[in-house]
Amino acid sequence: MSDIIQLLPDSVANQIAAGEVVQRPASAVKELMENALDAGSTQIKLIAKDAGKTLIQIIDNGCGMSESDARMSFERHATSKIRKADDLFAIRTMGFRGEALASIAAIAQVELKTKRIGDEIGVKIDIEGSEVKNQEATHCPEGTSISVKNLFYNVPARRNFLKTDAVELRHIIEEFQRVAIPNPQVAFSFHHNTTEVFNLPVGNLKQRLMGVFGNSYNTRLVPVEENTEIVKIKGYVIKPDFAKKTRGEQFFFLNKRFIKSAYLHHAVQSAFEQLLPKDSFASYFLLLDVDPKTIDINIHPTKTEVKFEDEKAIYAFLRSAIKKSLGQFNIAPSLDFNQEAHLYNMPLKPVDGIYKQPTITVDPNYNPFKIDSPLGIKSSERDLSNRANWEKMYSRHADNQLEFEIKKEEETQQTINTDWDNELHESNLKSSYQLHNKYILTHIKTGFMVIDQQGGHERILYERILYAFEKNKSATQQELFPKTIELNPADFALVKELNSEIQSLGFDISEFGKNTFVIHGIPADTVNFDSVNLLEGLIENYKQNQLELKSDKRENLARAMARNMSIKSGRALTQEEMNNLIDELFACKMPYSTPSGKPTITTFSSEDLDKRFKK
Ligand code: ADP
Ligand code: MG
Repeated sequence: MSDIIQLLPDSVANQIAAGEVVQRPASAVKELMENALDAGSTQIKLIAKDAGKTLIQIIDNGCGMSESDARMSFERHATSKIRKADDLFAIRTMGFRGEALASIAAIAQVELKTKRIGDEIGVKIDIEGSEVKNQEATHCPEGTSISVKNLFYNVPARRNFLKTDAVELRHIIEEFQRVAIPNPQVAFSFHHNTTEVFNLPVGNLKQRLMGVFGNSYNTRLVPVEENTEIVKIKGYVIKPDFAKKTRGEQFFFLNKRFIKSAYLHHAVQSAFEQLLPKDSFASYFLLLDVDPKTIDINIHPTKTEVKFEDEKAIYAFLRSAIKKSLGQFNIAPSLDFNQEAHLYNMPLKPVDGIYKQPTITVDPNYNPFKIDSPLGIKSSERDLSNRANWEKMYSRHADNQLEFEIKKEEETQQTINTDWDNELHESNLKSSYQLHNKYILTHIKTGFMVIDQQGGHERILYERILYAFEKNKSATQQELFPKTIELNPADFALVKELNSEIQSLGFDISEFGKNTFVIHGIPADTVNFDSVNLLEGLIENYKQNQLELKSDKRENLARAMARNMSIKSGRALTQEEMNNLIDELFACKMPYSTPSGKPTITTFSSEDLDKRFKK
């Protein structure tokens, strides 16, 4: 038999490599921006169309390339950054594998224009699916411009796999920030379609952070600095008062390269110990500088995890540096833990102070955003089959021994109403208990059931919001004194993309100058919320979902809003509130899990209990 092994043609090998290096437009943005930085540029412009799907262009004023280097740059393993294996241990540049350009050129139509500083004439190369289509001398400015058109044009499976423009744009913004933040000595700009998303002049780190996240950061940032032999630490943390309920902004840069480290994150979080309200996260922008010899750089370029030699020492230095800063800048006394509490909690009492009996009758005129029960929630025509199931499965009628015993006690205090609804309800009143202000315990036919109050409420709100989306029924409460909200450019772009969905949630917002919105109205059942915090919380939760999920805009917004508005753990509930929550939960289509799939309900059978007591 003849031999069957062959070398793959370069174009195929490149396409395979491209799968690793370029997953989405944002990966190309990252690679090209890093190349521009490595070329010593002081000004880097990013232009994108349709979230990079149609065009990604990076224009820099760096060193440029000679004609033959320009041609070579598209070869695989072609790099100017290392010459020998030893160089790997002293690497300070962003790239060194020589894979990026070859990979990008394998899966897009690329146009490169470049001219070295001092050269008369530049070169233009057109390359498509690894094939050079054209090369000619050209007049162009010093530096390099690379246009990447129709990414994945020849890999339809990949192209189809791309997410919506809003999601892909978010990824690009994220990569852009990761390169721009640790390099304030370089001017960056980013234009998307017709919008200028960022325009960041040369400045210091603080100015760069304000440019990226908005001027309000001016008063929020606390500097951190520490120089030791092992690590140099420089950067900022956000004052604990401004901590976010969701992850917020968390940036570590190691030798100016963005990294993720759960271990170092823990160091920061623990430095904030007791300064942060429960369930809040510190925000930080920390640049660590270490000798490249002491880290494992041989990791894949698209991965953000890193191995340190002196991990423990770095942890300790980081923690103490932040503690010192927080102490020095006198952060602790300005804390007000109650400040946020009201923002994240549902109005538990009706405005008129009168509770209405929860009821399970169907109301065909149901307005999902009308407050007329203690939780601002009410049963609807949505889906009553689950409620029927719940009644069957978990009937709280006194029809077994355990229930009977409890009932007997109750009889001494009240007469039992024979009306079924009322009986169920009365029985509820007696039989729901709150544990640690977190769980609702209620007894059921076969034992007892524990409901996670926050998760359960999230589920209720989530279905209600989705329902309102579907029926276009959200009502808006106009604000007496409309407030403005200044967002960072990335969030501003996001809100613009989501504008029509946000409006259909019940918000009434309009643009008001650069990066700013006016909030004229908020969803009608959120009247006790502060409008700015409500919108900010929505954006935060949305971004967090976006990183974790592949869901569409509306679903993501419904999740974000539900999480934002839900009753949190730690909140004491009245009997009525508990019963109402149980009723509403079982009117849901999927009562058993939160929108993100965590359980909301767990049950224990009386047999389990009997066993424990060895009966
Ligand atoms: P790497 O960055 O790992 O070396 P790339 O494929 O990203 O590999 O780039 C290959 C080479 O092309 C680089 O080593 C560099 O010499 C050159 N190059 C790429 N982009 C630029 C640029 N914007 N300006 C100057 N040279 C560049
Ligand atoms: Mg590179």
